[in-house]
Amino acid sequence: MEVKMSMIPGGKKGKASRNHVQLGQNVSFGDVLLEVETGKGVREITATVEGSISKIHFEEGDEVSSNQVLFTIDAAAEEGTSTVTSQATKMEQPTLDKNVDLLIIGAGPGGYVAAIYAAKKGIKVALVEKEELGGTCLNVGCIPTKSLVKSSEICHHIKESSLFGIHTGTDLQVDMKQVIRRKDEIKGKLISGIDYLMEKNNIEIIRGQAAFLSATQVSVKGQRHYQVTANDIIIATGSKITKVNIPGINLSFVMNSTDALASTELPKSITIIGGGVIGMEFAFIYRNFGVEVHVVEFMDRLLTMVDSDISEEIRHSAENAGIHIHTQSKVSKIQQADNGQAIVTYENKQGEHLLVSEKVLVAIGREPNLDGLDIEQAGIQRNERGKGIAVNEYMRTNVEHIYAIGDVTDIMQLAHVASHQGITAIDAIMGGSEGMHYAAIPNVIFTSPEIASVGILEDQCKREGMDFSVSKVSFSSNGKALTMNESEGFIKLIKDNVTQKIVGGSIIGPDASSLISSLTLAIANELTEQQITQTVFAHPTTGEVIHEAAFGLSIGALHQA
Ligand SMILES: Cc1cc2nc3c(=O)[nH]c(=O)nc-3n(C[C@H](O)[C@H](O)[C@H](O)COP(=O)(O)OP(=O)(O)OC[C@H]3O[C@@H](n4cnc5c(N)ncnc54)[C@H](O)[C@@H]3O)c2cc1C
Repeated sequence: MEVKMSMIPGGKKGKASRNHVQLGQNVSFGDVLLEVETGKGVREITATVEGSISKIHFEEGDEVSSNQVLFTIDAAAEEGTSTVTSQATKMEQPTLDKNVDLLIIGAGPGGYVAAIYAAKKGIKVALVEKEELGGTCLNVGCIPTKSLVKSSEICHHIKESSLFGIHTGTDLQVDMKQVIRRKDEIKGKLISGIDYLMEKNNIEIIRGQAAFLSATQVSVKGQRHYQVTANDIIIATGSKITKVNIPGINLSFVMNSTDALASTELPKSITIIGGGVIGMEFAFIYRNFGVEVHVVEFMDRLLTMVDSDISEEIRHSAENAGIHIHTQSKVSKIQQADNGQAIVTYENKQGEHLLVSEKVLVAIGREPNLDGLDIEQAGIQRNERGKGIAVNEYMRTNVEHIYAIGDVTDIMQLAHVASHQGITAIDAIMGGSEGMHYAAIPNVIFTSPEIASVGILEDQCKREGMDFSVSKVSFSSNGKALTMNESEGFIKLIKDNVTQKIVGGSIIGPDASSLISSLTLAIANELTEQQITQTVFAHPTTGEVIHEAAFGLSIGALHQA
């Protein structure tokens, strides 16, 4: 186990001023190991596990920077595999009682944001985490995937560089070890950033697995065993990968998204099971790296959470990029060929088909994580589907002072939703009356091109028989998109004809992930198309297509015949 330097803002360095330990010394969780002088005073670096110091990576007086490894600790044996000494150590450690105003279980984007917000509002808060700070999002979700998206896009841009008048002249090589190392460095930086924020806001981090003992008491078992009593509790334990029952799913070449994000070997070919968000983001990552990619999807189209015309457009882009798409197809088994290759069998209306590839990625979905939490001990109820925790608009469960936020509620599996639900829960604890609204939640998919949507979808308007108008303007005549060689796609705006407000927006095309924030502001603030056309958009930018689409709702887009 490595102990790293916590975040020093602005890329500044500190000085390792006083080392408290020596090689071979036994330390306990929370023991001060080192004092570091920073521009803002002396910071104490403490042991994150119990064990013995096996390496010291600096000398007193050295400069140290954020995230630098300072100590290696050989962790003491876990319970169950204990030796005589570790048993003796465990016997010396009684259960520690703690009292806090607010206990938050899970330090993902739901839990850690709620903790900071609560601390800033003056609440005494403790945050429990059994793994790394940052949760799924930072460790095996949003950030790692986007780091890989960027590396793979660079690979793609280099391949098309001659179009821009740049000749690279050498064979392109993907160094997957460096791709993964870079991803881990970004992750490390962000984790130490959260660590720093916790320290600055006096938030106590309790390391270990939480389980309810009653509606007010939670046991936390880690290197130490705590029994925490809290006035309010927020459950933010996130989600876990859904287990699927396909024969052969446990073969060695079958990966899930977490395995794929750690793999330092780039396969020559891959079959991705699932054409949802995670499956399609990985499909473009692998394809941009030059891998042969097949996607097998059970439904009749990819990305069923977006409008069908966007689904069509992304299928077209995927196929143009060389990704093989098989929709309305059900994987029935995975086998290993004599040469070690994977054979994926899928069935559709035409019969049974085989796909041969080096690796298989299963991207079927995630479900709320309540493992080992013993919510029944507190009398907390699940939702109708029986998977997530049931909550009201204030994120309150059926137990008055217990709240649940993020993926564990099974409402929307998005990091920014988890964070906002956290803020809503804290406001409710403080007596506020503003509930959670879901009418203007942006959703971004990092494919090539990117996809983003907010508010109502066109398909939904049709289904619900709404009186609405739609305007769709393509990027093909947008100057900035052409300079980027990314003129595929369109922006679509939806107006409610009864209220005259913009109620929905979808984008497939360049900068979609950034452009969606403008549409979110427009929808959240109930703007009309006229308020958008009266706004000046900078030139040349891809945002001008939003302006054009707003004109499309009245006199027609200016740059479209
Ligand atoms: C591959 C992938 C890509 C993604 N990309 C995006 C994206 O681009 N944009 C986006 O918005 N979302 C994305 N997501 C979804 C996003 O990661 C989640 O919606 C978000 O992390 C949910 O936050 P959370 O706080 O609810 O839970 P999590 O982030 O899952 O955090 C829960 C934390 O609770 C801890 N925990 C669980 N049980 C216990 C316990 N009993 N005791 C102590 N600690 C416990 C866990 O260790 C974990 O750290 C992606 C997900 C994946 C898998």
